[in-house]
Amino acid sequence: MTTMRAAVLHAAGDLRVQERAVPAPGPGEALVRVAVCGVCGSDASEYDRGPLLTVLPVTLGHEFVGVVEAVGPDTAGVAVGATVVCGAGVSCGTCKPCREGRTNLCRSYATLGLQRDGGLAGYVVAPADILLDVTASGLSTDTLGMAQPMSIAVHAVRRSGLRAGQDAVIVGAGGIGTFITVAAVATGARVLVADLNPDRLALAERLGAFATLKADEKGLAERIDELGMDVDVFFEVTGSAPGLASVLESARPGATIVPVGIQRGEPGLPLGSWTLREYTIVGTVAHVFATDMPEAIRLLAARDDWSDLAHEVLPLEKVADEGLRPLLDRSARQIKTLVDPWITQSRPAVHGVRR
Ligand SMILES: [Zn+2]
Ligand SMILES: [Zn+2]
Repeated sequence: MTTMRAAVLHAAGDLRVQERAVPAPGPGEALVRVAVCGVCGSDASEYDRGPLLTVLPVTLGHEFVGVVEAVGPDTAGVAVGATVVCGAGVSCGTCKPCREGRTNLCRSYATLGLQRDGGLAGYVVAPADILLDVTASGLSTDTLGMAQPMSIAVHAVRRSGLRAGQDAVIVGAGGIGTFITVAAVATGARVLVADLNPDRLALAERLGAFATLKADEKGLAERIDELGMDVDVFFEVTGSAPGLASVLESARPGATIVPVGIQRGEPGLPLGSWTLREYTIVGTVAHVFATDMPEAIRLLAARDDWSDLAHEVLPLEKVADEGLRPLLDRSARQIKTLVDPWITQSRPAVHGVRR
């Protein structure tokens, strides 16, 4: 039996790089040799105070790309040697939401890297129907390591109904907010991005934002007026009470509000005024692999160099200290932290189309 290295979460604060047996693919499954795997805020939350969604012990990692090494019996759709990105969410295909195409709302949804072993390892087993063959894209695997979070952003923007000619506001330009900026700009809408961090606002401008707001310098409503925008869609990504308050102060009747960030313990929401203003409040969770992931790949292919989002790739040994902890104390220097399970020292990220 051959072994691999894996970053296994055993309890809050207890992430161990361990030797584990390489898993074998069952019916309908593929064994993927992981090239790169991203970590995000949900991994950090599990490390900080889990288990929240995880079933422990579990190999973390739900944002991975790799090459199909082997397939199990009755596995269609992916071939050995193909470069694949994974959707991570596993749906049953038969419950009502699945039949309606809302696979992210599957009654028995489970996610690789949370409830089943994920991609912070040399190898991972995944159902073939949540692997997308992206060999033909020619994109580097480091760039493709951002496909899953990009797909989450594509889903949020799709849920909002945002389209060309409309105006949008994004409050919070961290990891998810930055990917939403890319997806929102791609619709052809004018996008105003608000954050406290000037570096992130500069990045938003490079990604095509129409305007930015340093949120501690001016109110959101005032900035919107100054720009002459009439905002159709608000994405509140911070999950903070002040973030939501700034949106509610600024939203005109008829606006759509997408609370992407999860609000905790909010007191008495002004539902009466929401009724009279005919706000559309839209939830968004995970992504619909079949439709959102191909669009995410298209967006990644539209830009050559993503090193301003991810410039350094970490080994498994540095996931806790240089990947997860900076997400918790908000000192992360990169929008997306990528991990290569085959290295022992950090390396620069390689972006763009492979030659
Ligand atoms: Zn994630
Ligand atoms: Zn289902």
